[in-house]
Amino acid sequence: MWSYEHNGFSVHQIPALRDNFIYLIATDEVLACVDPAEAAPVVAACRQLGRKLTHILNTHHHNDHTGGNLELKARYACMVAGAAHDALRIPGIDLHLSQGIDLRIGDLALQVLDIPGHTTGHIAFVCGEGDDTALFCGDTIFGAGCGRLFEGTPAQMWHSLEKLMRLPDSTRFYCAHEYTLNNLEFCLARISQSDAVKAYSTWCKDRLDKGIPSIPGTLGREKQCNPMLLPADEAFRINYAKLHGIGEDAVSVYTHIREARNHW
Ligand code: ZN
Ligand code: FE
Repeated sequence: MWSYEHNGFSVHQIPALRDNFIYLIATDEVLACVDPAEAAPVVAACRQLGRKLTHILNTHHHNDHTGGNLELKARYACMVAGAAHDALRIPGIDLHLSQGIDLRIGDLALQVLDIPGHTTGHIAFVCGEGDDTALFCGDTIFGAGCGRLFEGTPAQMWHSLEKLMRLPDSTRFYCAHEYTLNNLEFCLARISQSDAVKAYSTWCKDRLDKGIPSIPGTLGREKQCNPMLLPADEAFRINYAKLHGIGEDAVSVYTHIREARNHW
């Protein structure tokens, strides 16, 4: 378990399954679990902290994000919060969320964003503000990548990514998988060999060699290096469109890069 301090809350990161991360958001009053892939490592982490789970927060319905819901709910009698849109697909859901319904649980305030694309009912949780923002984005932004489009369209996903890019550059993003190194290899091979991407790759290898996750990173670095976010940059977009003979608009460029990643 790795822990990160923020203003008024801390985040504990728990590895699960093959390459998942489960998070605990802890304040004096609240211990909320984001995307419990499975129950056992969450129970172990709660024991280690000497605390009981008060809430489960699901970013989307996939089993590697909700697999622990029912067992944890039975054990701790905690509240389960997830997207209203996916109420029928989220086990044990009590609180139905969507953008605009901001959540205050005890001394923890959470902003909810609708970010469809990976699934149609995908949401994100934003905690803190300004220079001390934490983003829980599930399978939407990964280190140097983004989630596959299982249910949404490329345009939907692009608009969700744009929404997340409006958060401050210093935002620490807590995504649900350790995919960064593989994503960076794709980026270097097919999309960009900028100094920033090379530096990210060196940093990432060094972290993983030491047994430390590459997540959380900052949104600022993703905007510079993440091939799925690069279409926001006009110079990159025009260049890439020319190279591949496609439209210069961000959705066309994003769609092309997402396709290239699918087949890499
Ligand atoms: Zn997923
Ligand atoms: Fe996942």
